[in-house]
Amino acid sequence: MTEPSARIVKAEVYEVAMPLLKTFVTGFGDTSSRHTVLIHIVDDDGFEGWGEAPALDHPFYLPETTSTTYSIVVEYALALSLQATSGDPRDVVRAMSPIRGNTFARAGVEAAYWALASARSGQPMSALLGGSAVRVAVGESLSIADSMEETLEEVALRLSEGYRRIKLKIRPGWDVNVVRAVRERFGHDILLQVDANAAYTLDEADVFHALDEFELLCIEQPLGYDDFEGSQALQRQLETAICLDEAIRSPSDARRALDMDACRNINVKPARVGGLVASLEIHDLCVKRGIPMWCGGMLESGIGRSANLALCSLPGFTQPADMSPAVVLYEEDLVDPTYLVDPEGYIAVPQASGLGFNVVTDRITARTVRLAVLDQRTQTMREETTDHFRI
Ligand SMILES: [Mg+2]
Repeated sequence: MTEPSARIVKAEVYEVAMPLLKTFVTGFGDTSSRHTVLIHIVDDDGFEGWGEAPALDHPFYLPETTSTTYSIVVEYALALSLQATSGDPRDVVRAMSPIRGNTFARAGVEAAYWALASARSGQPMSALLGGSAVRVAVGESLSIADSMEETLEEVALRLSEGYRRIKLKIRPGWDVNVVRAVRERFGHDILLQVDANAAYTLDEADVFHALDEFELLCIEQPLGYDDFEGSQALQRQLETAICLDEAIRSPSDARRALDMDACRNINVKPARVGGLVASLEIHDLCVKRGIPMWCGGMLESGIGRSANLALCSLPGFTQPADMSPAVVLYEEDLVDPTYLVDPEGYIAVPQASGLGFNVVTDRITARTVRLAVLDQRTQTMREETTDHFRI
């Protein structure tokens, strides 16, 4: 096995713009093109790592945006990571720990070091994380549609494609009606859940009382993104488990929510909670307390999905993940071959070392909006001119 650490001699941070095939509509707005941040590092033995920091373009999901994430990675996170005592991702996490919040930026840099560590060790990333599953059950998240019939058609399509769980995005006026319609058409055997993306207040608890009869797997983030007390009050009134997404941004948030009984289900997105090491901590906490968990998605490219798939190979991830293949979301993925959902509703966990997927750098270059590169002499990042980039 190769030594676990070597010197980083090349580092690049990209902001790329990826047009979505179809506008994604949720309680906080519409997304038609996705800007995401990519981190690429290379060590002096020639091993490389790729990571993705998939904050959303806007501050309506969480405070961080693609732009703020790009800036934090370029100005702080990468520089701090270079001061780590080794290339061990856990040391990199410690080195970046002075950064408050900015979970996406830290997670993206950390992910690149996991891919690098995997490449150096010759073991798949899933094995480094302690996972053993070779495939991951997946569900599909359906955005708010123009009509009920459109939603019912999409549920039928996704079920026929093998997806093992359906998640409906809801907002006031598009909630009990759509859940009732899906249950009436498809029965109670399908796994069904809803995601409110924090679109309600406790004054609207009647909606959730009405949803309680539909045997949902969970009701995701019904109330404000930081409203632990409201979620606790609502959970006490409901049979259905509340799942927290936006509210859980660190292992201590997860512990607090479970201690308060503010939720009985957790959606782990590695980038939202500050990275894979933080995700492992939440995983172990949930396993110890018997709390079901699953991996959420941030419309990542295949680069980000690789880390998510590796994480999902751990035994605590007992419910289907949100993991639409990039080809369903985008004109083309940044990795080739990309991953697909098999007819039984599973995605294979990459077994190759490194990222586990082949990154197509030409596609990244063609979509680059901004690029910063490491100046080896000063060990700081330098912005490249963007004049020649197609935006
Ligand atoms: Mg969610």
